[in-house]
Amino acid sequence: MNVIEKLEILADAAKYDVACTSSGVDRSGRNGQLGATRAAGCCHSFTPDGRCITLLKVLFTNVCTYDCAYCVNRKSNTEVKRTAFTPQELADLTIGFYRRNYIEGLFLSSGVVGCPDRTTELMVEALRILREDYGFRGYIHAKAIPGTSVELLDALGRLSDRLSVNLELPSQQSLGLLAPAKSRASILAPMRHIHDSIADDKESRARKRKNLTIYQSLAKPVRRARAFAPAGQSTQMIIGATPESDYHILNLSASLYQTMQLKRVFFSAYLPVVKNPLLPATDAVQLNREHRLYQADWLMRFYGFNVAEIIDEDHPFLEPDVDPKANWALNHLDFFPVEVNTAPLEALLRVPGIGVRGAKLILRARRQSTLGEAELRKLGIAYKRARYFITMNGSYGGKGVDFSRDALHARLAAPIDGGRHGRRAAKTTPGQMTLFESTEQAAVLPEASASNKAALETAFEAQRRALNAANGPVAGIAIGASAAVAPSAAASCSTSRREENAKGSSNAAQRGMPQAAGHRVTNPGHPLLQVG
Ligand code: SF4
Repeated sequence: MNVIEKLEILADAAKYDVACTSSGVDRSGRNGQLGATRAAGCCHSFTPDGRCITLLKVLFTNVCTYDCAYCVNRKSNTEVKRTAFTPQELADLTIGFYRRNYIEGLFLSSGVVGCPDRTTELMVEALRILREDYGFRGYIHAKAIPGTSVELLDALGRLSDRLSVNLELPSQQSLGLLAPAKSRASILAPMRHIHDSIADDKESRARKRKNLTIYQSLAKPVRRARAFAPAGQSTQMIIGATPESDYHILNLSASLYQTMQLKRVFFSAYLPVVKNPLLPATDAVQLNREHRLYQADWLMRFYGFNVAEIIDEDHPFLEPDVDPKANWALNHLDFFPVEVNTAPLEALLRVPGIGVRGAKLILRARRQSTLGEAELRKLGIAYKRARYFITMNGSYGGKGVDFSRDALHARLAAPIDGGRHGRRAAKTTPGQMTLFESTEQAAVLPEASASNKAALETAFEAQRRALNAANGPVAGIAIGASAAVAPSAAASCSTSRREENAKGSSNAAQRGMPQAAGHRVTNPGHPLLQVG
């Protein structure tokens, strides 16, 4: 099989992994070396549903000794062609594409060939050739395989910009049922090790800078070791293959942000690619749910919302018709209207239609003049949404509309006419774009219908029965101290590495605005939130 045939198989096999944005690291080009990356994001292009495509996204191999029920590459799937790159082939391919300006970096994942350590050794060798032999300074995102030993994680982290370990499924029981070779501990142990290594690396670099004397600064600079995963770590969860609620998923995400300092938690709407009695036998892809989860995630990371403000146990799924911020606003009408000419940043960030950038622009612009509709539109504020929740120098923007939950809900849930909204929605295609197909050829994604939802419920019922029989009722993945101990994920690996693993605001106050200070734990007693 030649390299292009391998690429066709392995790029296609990698398209189900969505955790691939590359923002987070700034590195300029250097004489005699190749590539550069920008913190603002070397991914300039996204699929219609927001997935990044400018990295060469491939598996090292689609051979896998594991048998995860939801995965097209699982061992028992005899319908896929299996292949693997050699480290040299993968490095040559990446450099070839980079030189032709097809890609700006590499997203490397892999099936488990033999054991996690053997697979990681092959990945490390490919990245070493790229970094050391070719002097490649572009962006690299590598997937760490649960159960990999700490030395290999260290090597991978020194060669990559971002590492990620997929959480795969949002609960321990679902994991045990659908991905029996993976466990809570084998996933959380590398996550915790990566977290600790990033923190140590940052600390030692800061200490070095601080202690720099005049004599040291005059000395010939020694070649510094590469930073450990300077763009941090991320993870991914499959949404909709198992019955966990949005409440469960968002609490788990908040806990991961808090305890592991993850850069991102990616949500991947379950895509039915294999048949299994324990999986939903439906072709509905819950893209809207995935989209709402991303919006909620954005609120937690950039807008100062905590999980309890977004979702509660009595309403465990996000509202499908309106985004979570609009939903919060509709439930807190007493907080509005907000006066755009005097409100603090925290209050502006609560207004539907005003984003982080818009709120900061408002703060700056109002120093020069009093803001009205025209000025807000010029600043790029989504005035059609924001107007129901603001006053401009005392004048209410939503005149003519009843200031009630129902009336405003109807307005906010209605499709937005005009402007650039929805211009990509009509072209939505399944999964990500590939190097080999035109997007026009791809079928339009099916929407969840009543029969699809019924099929989902049937599958979930089967899962619940199996879970109850095996483990008792579904609980979350506890992110506790015990995560530092990884059990052997692949018995065939050498035990020495396994043993290593085992060591291993005024207006806000006025209006009674909820405190928005980071990701607070909503229910410390919840098993998801046991912080180690
Ligand atoms: S480990 Fe599981 S999810 Fe990963 S490639 Fe193998 S079967 Fe697929």
